[in-house]
Amino acid sequence: MTVADLGILRDVTVDADGTVIATLTPTYSGCPATAMIEAMVASALREAGYTTARVETRLSPAWTTDWITEEGRDKLRDYGIAPPVAHSPDPDALFAEPRVACPRCESTATEQLAAFGSTPCKAQYRCTQCHEPFDYFKCHRQFG
Ligand SMILES: [Zn+2]
Repeated sequence: MTVADLGILRDVTVDADGTVIATLTPTYSGCPATAMIEAMVASALREAGYTTARVETRLSPAWTTDWITEEGRDKLRDYGIAPPVAHSPDPDALFAEPRVACPRCESTATEQLAAFGSTPCKAQYRCTQCHEPFDYFKCHRQFG
């Protein structure tokens, strides 16, 4: 799983004096993963030899789970994590329970066990088809 797969890495530029600037858009404000991702990117740049690398955050446009690439979604499933349900243009669907598909058997006969899983970005679900518990990546779009 890379920050590019998640759609968090927006841009990488090099300024006039050779400083690499990586621009990230956090998944949502207060998501503890964001600080971790910033540190990961900064240390990856340093390891690649860019001693003057800088990580900047860009809040607009706000990240949505729609930015996760198809490859990123496949990798989430490989980790046993259900990728976020794609954003629906129907405003009523925003407040409906998402139909989360099991990452193992793809059944949508799933139930939420806990609103928070191993991190606040994930909810714990269980598949009623294959009886496997799994995490659902629920970093939703940002409001306001
Ligand atoms: Zn299943």
